[in-house]
Amino acid sequence: MPIDPHSIRQRFPLLTRQVHGKPLVYLDNAATTQKPEGVLEAMDHYYRALNSNIHRGVYTLAQEATDRYEEVRQAVARFLHAPAAHEIIFTRGTTESINLVAQSFGQRYLREGDEVVVSVMEHHSNIVPWQLACQRSGARLKVLGIDGQGRLDMDALDAILGERTRLLALTQVSNVTGRIHPVREIIRKAHALDIPVLIDGAQSAPHLAVDVQELDCDFFAFSGHKAYGPMGIGVLYGKERWLEEMPPWQGGGEMIDRVTFEETTYNELPYKFEAGTPAVAEALGLKAALDFMEAVGMPGLHALETELMAHAWKKLEGFPGMRLYSAVEDNAGVISFLLDGIHPYDLGTLLDRFGIAVRTGHHCAQPLMDHWGVPGTVRLSVAAYNTTEEIDIFAEALEKCAAILA
Ligand code: PMP
Repeated sequence: MPIDPHSIRQRFPLLTRQVHGKPLVYLDNAATTQKPEGVLEAMDHYYRALNSNIHRGVYTLAQEATDRYEEVRQAVARFLHAPAAHEIIFTRGTTESINLVAQSFGQRYLREGDEVVVSVMEHHSNIVPWQLACQRSGARLKVLGIDGQGRLDMDALDAILGERTRLLALTQVSNVTGRIHPVREIIRKAHALDIPVLIDGAQSAPHLAVDVQELDCDFFAFSGHKAYGPMGIGVLYGKERWLEEMPPWQGGGEMIDRVTFEETTYNELPYKFEAGTPAVAEALGLKAALDFMEAVGMPGLHALETELMAHAWKKLEGFPGMRLYSAVEDNAGVISFLLDGIHPYDLGTLLDRFGIAVRTGHHCAQPLMDHWGVPGTVRLSVAAYNTTEEIDIFAEALEKCAAILA
């Protein structure tokens, strides 16, 4: 049965609000998604009925909270089809997940003269942690280019991966263009050279069915808040063989086995990488978000968004002065564009007066903006609750804004 975005919408209380006297049209889902009732209720319930510090208490409340928290780990493992729950590490988000790998993997494996490869279209959070790791180790950062359609340059990939490459870090879906990259094929190529691959899944996990075993990626990172869950919780999946070898990256409670002033030994996976009190309510909210996505079904959700994108594409394609920085095929719900002679900030600000929320600027991808020679773009990005009516409202408002700003 086809999924109805109107019935999905009803589960999202924030979507009923108005902005400047107009119904909110929220099209900034690549930045963060709105939250369904189930997520709000799960977090509320935690503080009303379960709050206690986990993993340490012998009393009922702490044991219940611990059990619920560890169930989330199991649920995330199922969501990503990870082989084992101890390969799932909770973090604050994609940024922290990548920083964990850059620091810990970097300390263990990166040496002077080694290389780390990223692409030109990465989010800053998949660039800067590697720059820092390279500065610490004396390794070099190498950059894979793209073609005019925003596809990764597969020929250049063969040339760029080499004997000194210690890791390839790539986004599965670009947050600027929405392009879905053929990461499975890329991972195969890298593995043929014994190069591990980290996948930034911030923009893929909310839109596509992810199977880390099928992808065979070595690390996979995503954020709860871009996938209908709360802010402050994210995930790092890592293959056990790497995680076992990698040193802890933060010290504190929970990550230890035994502490003396002479020597400290560390806890087993995944706790070795989880120092301090975790975000338990947020984890439970994340579980509710995964439940929501699984109830809709990832293939159905992607089909819904693809239909919406096709509708948006038709509206934007022939628009006077339109410069599109996305392609309609292999797209996970993002369109970046500019209108000739109109600054993206002016357009974004004026669209807000019509109740429309879109993102303008460099989208934390300044190297990509430099590559294109633009200061920024306007970015529309959809989620399961967006409707074709909203796209129509957007397109009408865009016409009015263009007339005013021209
Ligand atoms: N990678 C990509 C592709 C993203 O889109 C984002 C968020 N815009 C991030 C990483 C960082 O995510 P977070 O801020 O949730 O850590």
